Amino acid sequence: MRQRNKPWANDYIAGHSHIAIQNPKEQRGKWSKLFGNENPIHIEVGTGKGQFVTGMAKANPDINYIGIELSQSVIVAALQKAVESECENLFLLNENAEDLTDLFAEGEVDRVYLNFSDPWPKTRHEKRRLTYKTFLKRYQDIMVEEGEIHFKTDNQGLFEYSLKSFSEYGLLLTFVSLDLHSSEFEGNIMTEYEEKFSNKGQRIYRSEVKFRK
Ligand code: SAM
Repeated sequence: MRQRNKPWANDYIAGHSHIAIQNPKEQRGKWSKLFGNENPIHIEVGTGKGQFVTGMAKANPDINYIGIELSQSVIVAALQKAVESECENLFLLNENAEDLTDLFAEGEVDRVYLNFSDPWPKTRHEKRRLTYKTFLKRYQDIMVEEGEIHFKTDNQGLFEYSLKSFSEYGLLLTFVSLDLHSSEFEGNIMTEYEEKFSNKGQRIYRSEVKFRK
């Protein structure tokens, strides 16, 4: 994702710390308290500009959402959408997914969404893919038993790799679509990348997997 320098981003983020949580590692094990309810917690890793997570939070007020994004200049766009949405069930974290186990305690998360994750096509960069086994371990460490990963991408290579990685890890495949927008799947909320790629005529792949008991 192209990143522009946004000098005002720091101030904007600091001014909306009720959504863009500062020092989020201090909330480890206490996210339900911060949301003020015991509703399930779904996280999106690599939230980007936030169209998906904001749309999901609006559509599902009984679920708590947390969007995690590495880039400050990108998450600020998600924050603007979150502010406009006035959703109380949505937080954003400017963090690296490598630190997930410092952000969440065991069993604190019910579902992980991965949308249009960077494909890192070179073999030497495999470890950076968000569906590489070390990331799957992190998701497992913070999720409930039988926690789910929902994954969308336009990238056939990454999709094939990820299905193999899920299978090798022992995850159970519960849904797969090789052309989401032509399928009967209901309630799809598009991400920014999804809109861009599907407008170019590219197929969207989608899978759901869950950890076994
Ligand atoms: N999900 C959005 C969408 O579909 O429009 C954005 C997709 S973009 C290709 C991938 C995003 O993941 C980028 O914004 C990138 O900064 C973020 N990202 C990549 N690695 C990450 C990591 N380790 N932790 C958090 N975010 C990450």
